[in-house]
Amino acid sequence: MADSGTKTYKAAKRYIYAWGAGKAEGNGEMKDLLGGKGAGLAEMTNAGLPTPPGFTITTEACNDYFGAGKQLPAGLWDDVLTAVKVVEQQTGKGLGDPKNPLLVSVRSGAKFSMPGMMDTVLNLGLNETTLQGLIASTGNERFGWDAYRRFISMFGRIVMDVPAHVVKGKDGTEVAYNRFDEALDAAKEKHGKDAKDTDLDVADLKKLVAEYKKIVKTTLSRDFPDDPNEQLDLAIKAVFGSWFGKRATDYRNSQKIAHDLGTAVNVVTMVFGNMGNDSGTGVAFTRDPNTGEKVLFGEYLVNAQGEDVVAGIRTPAKIAQLAQDMPKAYAEFKKIAEKLEKHYKDVQDLEFTIERGRLYMLQTRSAKRTAAAAVKIAIDMVKEKLITQEMALARIEPAQVDQLLRDQFDPRARATAKRIAKGLNASPGAAVGKAVFHADVAAAWAAKGEKVVLIREETSPDDFHGMAVAQGILTAKGGATSHAAVVARQIGKPCVAGCSELEVNYATKSVTANGVTIKEGDAVSLDGSTGEVFAGALPTVHARYEDQKDLQTVLGWADKVRRLQVWTNADKPEEAAQARSYGAQGIGLCRTEHMFREGERLAIVRSAILVANVATRAKAKLEAGQKLDAEEKKAVAQFDAAMAKLEALQQGDFEGILAAMSGLPVTIRLIDPPLHEFLPNLDDQLVKVTKAGPKATAKDLELLATIKSMHEQNPMLGLRGCRLGLMIPDFVKIQTRAILNAAIAVKKAKKDPHPKIMIPLVGHVNELEATHAILAAEAEKVVKAAGVKIDYEFGTMIEIPRACWVADEIAKRATFFSFGTNDLTQMTFGYSRDDAEGGFLLKYVEGIAVPGEKEPMKILPYNVFQSLDPVIVKEMKLAVELGRKTRPDLNVGICGEHGGDPASIKNCHDTNLNYVSCSPFRVPVARLAAAQAALAGPERDK
Ligand code: PEP
Ligand code: MG
Repeated sequence: MADSGTKTYKAAKRYIYAWGAGKAEGNGEMKDLLGGKGAGLAEMTNAGLPTPPGFTITTEACNDYFGAGKQLPAGLWDDVLTAVKVVEQQTGKGLGDPKNPLLVSVRSGAKFSMPGMMDTVLNLGLNETTLQGLIASTGNERFGWDAYRRFISMFGRIVMDVPAHVVKGKDGTEVAYNRFDEALDAAKEKHGKDAKDTDLDVADLKKLVAEYKKIVKTTLSRDFPDDPNEQLDLAIKAVFGSWFGKRATDYRNSQKIAHDLGTAVNVVTMVFGNMGNDSGTGVAFTRDPNTGEKVLFGEYLVNAQGEDVVAGIRTPAKIAQLAQDMPKAYAEFKKIAEKLEKHYKDVQDLEFTIERGRLYMLQTRSAKRTAAAAVKIAIDMVKEKLITQEMALARIEPAQVDQLLRDQFDPRARATAKRIAKGLNASPGAAVGKAVFHADVAAAWAAKGEKVVLIREETSPDDFHGMAVAQGILTAKGGATSHAAVVARQIGKPCVAGCSELEVNYATKSVTANGVTIKEGDAVSLDGSTGEVFAGALPTVHARYEDQKDLQTVLGWADKVRRLQVWTNADKPEEAAQARSYGAQGIGLCRTEHMFREGERLAIVRSAILVANVATRAKAKLEAGQKLDAEEKKAVAQFDAAMAKLEALQQGDFEGILAAMSGLPVTIRLIDPPLHEFLPNLDDQLVKVTKAGPKATAKDLELLATIKSMHEQNPMLGLRGCRLGLMIPDFVKIQTRAILNAAIAVKKAKKDPHPKIMIPLVGHVNELEATHAILAAEAEKVVKAAGVKIDYEFGTMIEIPRACWVADEIAKRATFFSFGTNDLTQMTFGYSRDDAEGGFLLKYVEGIAVPGEKEPMKILPYNVFQSLDPVIVKEMKLAVELGRKTRPDLNVGICGEHGGDPASIKNCHDTNLNYVSCSPFRVPVARLAAAQAALAGPERDK
C-alpha cells in the first residue's frame, strides 16, 4: 500500500482505496471506480486540504456484489477490516473501543451525482457501551445521546428497512410516515408547537432511544445490532443495495444515467458539527448556483449534523454569517473554496463540518446550476481565462438552453394577481397547476393528464417521482440547498422553497398563507425566479430570446465550432421569422398541407376533393382526344375553379415565407397526407345521414359517398405523399406553380428567394422519376413565361426504408435528401406513429413485468420517436453513402422530430449530414447541441 506500507489486501481485485494523513491512494480522475465523492475526497487530500481519514470501496465491488447474488466478493470483508485498522491508527480511535470509539459514516457515491437518491448512515459504531466512551471523551452527554438516536433512526430506516407507517386517506391515497420521525415529532411537541430538535434534553433523548429500539423490535422482531462490525457489514451492503432502490432507479431513468455503473461506498471518520456552538456544518457553492454571481453562496447550521441542512429541518443561516460566528474557520473555508474552484476549473459544491473550531472538508463536486447561472458562469470563466470557449460550450446542457426560453408569467397579469406568499427563489421559471400535497397524488393526477404543483412542508428523496411530474414545487421549510431546491434545479422545475408563511396541513389537504387557503385541486401559480406564490392560474408568456444577451454570446461561440447547419420546420411567415431570429439558417420543412385547413380554405379544398377523381379522369380523357359528358365538364369546372383559388392562396403563403427567409434556402414539401383528412370523419357523416333518414340532403349524401370512396384501412401506408401526386397530378402542379410564382414575385420585390421543392414518401425511384417529370415541365413553363431567373431545386424526403437502399438511384434525380425520421421510424419498427405512443410504446420504455425478472424489463431504452434508434441511424448512413456515391455534393438534412433532439443531433453530425431542421423554439438548443457534437468527436456517447 502506498500510504501505510503495512496493509496488504486479500481480495483478487483492488476494491479499496484509502486516504488519510495527507495522502490518498486514489485521485480525482478515478470517478468511474471511486464515484464522485470518493474521487473528490482523494483529490482534496492530495491537495493538502483537511479531510477526515477514510476509504472508498469501489463501484466495481458494487457490481461484483450484485453479480454474485448480493454477496460481498471473496476477501473484501478482510480488506475492509484492514482499511479500518489504518483509519484507527490515523485517528487513534478504535471501532467498538469502549473508551475512545471510532465512529464512521458510510456514504454512497456514484460516478454521477444523484443528490439524496441513495443512502448514507452516520455515527456508525455506536452502542450502549461505545456511547459511554463518546460521552466521556467529549464530556457532552447530550451530544452523545443525540448522536445515538440519529444513528438508530438512520440505520433502522436505511439499513434495516423498518417499514413506514402507512395511513390511508379517505380518497384511498396512501401516505407513508417515517416511524422514527413520528416519535421525534411527538417528543418535540412536548416542548411546544414550534420546538426544534435542539430543544430536546438528555432525558428526552434517552427516552427517544428506547422508543426507537422498540420500533425496531416491534416492526422487525429483532434487536438493533450492537456489534460495530456487524453494523458496518450491513451498512455497506445496504448502500450497495440502494443503487437499485426505487428512488435511485427512477432518478437514473429520468436523467438517462446507465444502471450498470454501480455505486462506491465511502467509509469516513465522523467529524461532528453538533459538539456545541463552536461546531457547525454546511454546504456551499463557490458561485451562486441560481444566478451565477461570483460570491460564496451557501448555508450552514451551528451545532448540527449534515443531514439537518439538507433535510431542511431547521432553517439555516447564510454562509456570510459564518464570518461573524467563526472568523478563522470562515477564512480558511473561503481560501479552500477558491483553491478548489481554480483546481477543478468549475464551480464547486462543497460540504464541510467544523468540529470544535476545526474545519474539515467532506465533499467537493461540480455544482448543479440553473440554466441562467450555467450561461453566466461559462461566460465569466472564459473572461477570467479559467476555461476556453470550447470548455464553456461543453459545460452548458442543451436542456438548459431550452429552460432559458421557457415561459414566464405575463407581467400585466402578475401586477394584479393575488400574491399569497413569498419564499426563496430556489429554481427559476413559471409553474401553474392544481395544488397537490403528496408525491403519489402528484404522480396519479399527472398520469391522468393534470398539471399539478406539489406542495410539501419539505421534500425528501421519496418525493422524487412526484417532483418529476409536477409543474413546480413549493415547500414551507428548507433553504436554497434543501432537497427540494437542489433536485428542482437539476431537473429544471420551478421551485419556491422555505416559504415560511405557508401553513401546510396534510390532514385537510390544504395550505394557508396570509388568510388565503388553497385546497387540493385549486389552481396555484409559482414564480421560481422571484419566490412568489399566487392563488389561481396566471397566464404565462414566452421567454424572449432577444433579451438574453449571455445566451446569444454562447450560441455565437457554438456557431463558430459546429459543422452542422441548423434549419427550421416552419409553415408560416411568423414562424419563419421567429426561427430566423433564433439563428435558423434555412427552412428544412414547410408542410404545405397545414395551410389547407385554415379558415375559408377548407371549404375550397373540399370542393376540389369532392370532384377530384372524376375531374382527373375527365382530364385524362380530354388529353386522349375523347369528349366529356355534361357531368364530367361540370366536375372539371368545379375542380379547376377551386384549384385556382387554392393556387392563389398558396402563392401568397409562399411569398410570405420566401420573403421572411430571403437569402436562405426554403424547403417546401408538396402535399403529403391522404385527401380524406380534409373531409369530415366517416362515422360522423354516416351518423348525420342516418339520423336525417329520407330528409338527408343530396350534398350530405354526396359527401358521404366521397368519404367512403376515399376510405382506407391504413391511410398512413396508403394514398399519400408522392403516390397521391401521381394519382391526382393537379394538386402538385398547382403547388409547383404557386412556389415558383411566389419566388418570382419575391425576386421582383428585390428579395432573394431560394425555394427547394421536396417530394415526399418516395420508396421506388420510378415514383420520383414520374413525379419529377410532371413537376419539372410545369416549373419550366412558369419560369420561362416570367422570364426571371430563379434558383430552385427538386429533392426528396427519405422516409421509407426501401428508399435508403436505393438512395444511389434516387440521387440521380434528387439534388437533396431530407430524412423524414418520423415515418422512417414508423416504417422500420412497424409502429404506427399515431397510435404507438398512446398505447404500448411508453410501456415498452417503462418496462414490462416478465416472469423470473425482479425489475420490469425495458423493451426499448427510450422513445424512438423522440431520439433516433441506432438502426435508423444505420439506415441514414446507408442512404448518405449511396446518395453521395452518385452525387458527391448531395445536400442532406433531417426534418423529422429528431432534428431537435441533442442525442440525435450528435448522430446526424456523425453521419455527415449538412443540416438538422427542427421547430423554431428548438433552434437555439440545436445550435448548442451541434457544437457539442463537433467538439465531442466522431463517436456517440464518448
Ligand atoms: C417525417 O416523416 O419525419 C416528416 C418530417 O414528415 P411528416 O411528419 O409530415 O410525415
Ligand atoms: Mg413523413
